[in-house]
Amino acid sequence: MSDIRRDDSFLDIDQKLNGDGYSSFEAMDNLKVLCDDFGSRFGGTEGEKLAADFIAKKLTDYGLENVHLEAFEYLSWIRGTAKLEITHPIQKTLDCISLPHSPATDITAELFDAGEGAVSTFEDNAEAMKNTIVMASSETFPAGSKRWVHRGEKYGRSVLNGASAFIFMNHYPAYGPATGGIGLSNELGHIPAISVSYEDGSFLRRLVKKHGKVTLKLKTTDTSEPKTSWNVIGDITGSAYPEQVIMLGSHYDGHDISQGAQDPASGTVSVMEAARLLKTHVGSFPYTLRFALWGVEEIGLVGSRFHADVHEGNLDNLKFYFNMDGAGSVKNKGVVLNEWPDMEALVKSWQDGMTFDFKTDQSVNAFSDHYPFLLKGVPTGGLESVPKGTGGRGYGHTRYDTLDKVSVRELQDASVLAAMLTVRFASIPVDAWPVARRSQEAVQEMLNLPENVETMEIMAKVRAFYEAQNS
Ligand SMILES: [Zn+2]
Repeated sequence: MSDIRRDDSFLDIDQKLNGDGYSSFEAMDNLKVLCDDFGSRFGGTEGEKLAADFIAKKLTDYGLENVHLEAFEYLSWIRGTAKLEITHPIQKTLDCISLPHSPATDITAELFDAGEGAVSTFEDNAEAMKNTIVMASSETFPAGSKRWVHRGEKYGRSVLNGASAFIFMNHYPAYGPATGGIGLSNELGHIPAISVSYEDGSFLRRLVKKHGKVTLKLKTTDTSEPKTSWNVIGDITGSAYPEQVIMLGSHYDGHDISQGAQDPASGTVSVMEAARLLKTHVGSFPYTLRFALWGVEEIGLVGSRFHADVHEGNLDNLKFYFNMDGAGSVKNKGVVLNEWPDMEALVKSWQDGMTFDFKTDQSVNAFSDHYPFLLKGVPTGGLESVPKGTGGRGYGHTRYDTLDKVSVRELQDASVLAAMLTVRFASIPVDAWPVARRSQEAVQEMLNLPENVETMEIMAKVRAFYEAQNS
């Protein structure tokens, strides 16, 4: 065990990280426990706490310091039953699931087919959608759209148009209904929301085309109550600047309908494995390396938001947060920086000197645990696909996101790449960090990219609508 000195070549340490990382079953063994023993680990399930305790024990076994569970409160959501019936022009019951934070309902209303959920469809049919059940598919880039239109935006636009309920139709055949939270942050949605398979959604579309008017009866019995969850945190304490932190993280909660093996557990175990490799083969770094496994990401980024809020006073010392949500299942593993051009040159210089073939890109999205930190100006990035795929989540958020979709090699790739990158981040001299925390003004300016403005405006309208309802 020796300190990484900033002028050292990385060859020796890379060899150790790669040699151990690529001959170890540890990440896959941990994945088996998280998925097969503990199930979805969805907020409020028994497996959630078992997973948190297991992760803490593993981090302790690896020799990390200050390993602890960080408790926080949130609004849990407990799945009940969901029944969707066509009552006109035919009688038929369709398979469906409620989306997390959907309120319980018992309504009958006409179906409005919003196709892929393009922005223009919502804008051009505001009147027609009133008091209907709006159905939009999960297409990430709806026809005519240059940007990702997220489920939350399609739901939010349905709420603003006065819809009575929302149906999310999977745009992939044979994957069943896809899930995903619909609350704005961690609260109940304003209207009920369910999800149907591509096949049932397509059938509904054909009915609308043929008959015009299609009436649906929807009954759901989901409930909701305040609960406690936990982030799991462990450190390799810095030798020279212990208060300065480089943090790696991934959530560990999956959606309740599956094992959440790809999303997030392949990332969870990759963070844990990077911690093991770094502690075993380097042991000590000038900065503190912090490993964070977040709770309750899937219904509002609750754990990471809590952490960023509670530790607000220390965020100037958080030099970089690297997010690894589902990292072991990401295709074309690369580094996405959240609009930090001054860091890109540095990462690209490492890229050129590494045998791991990866690319670096810049973009911003609001849909994982980097976001609470990004909003507070912390330099953030993540292990993501570069180039970015446009195909959406694949098995993620479906009942088929199971252990058998994850390979040992992909977990090794994610954890070894993360470990090699962390060694390099930790080698940056303290007075030579290329980026510093952004001011709130700079954060807002950065988010005001043309591709973000439209979403931010509409979500602000949804937020205002909710606040008006609640007051
Ligand atoms: Zn995730």
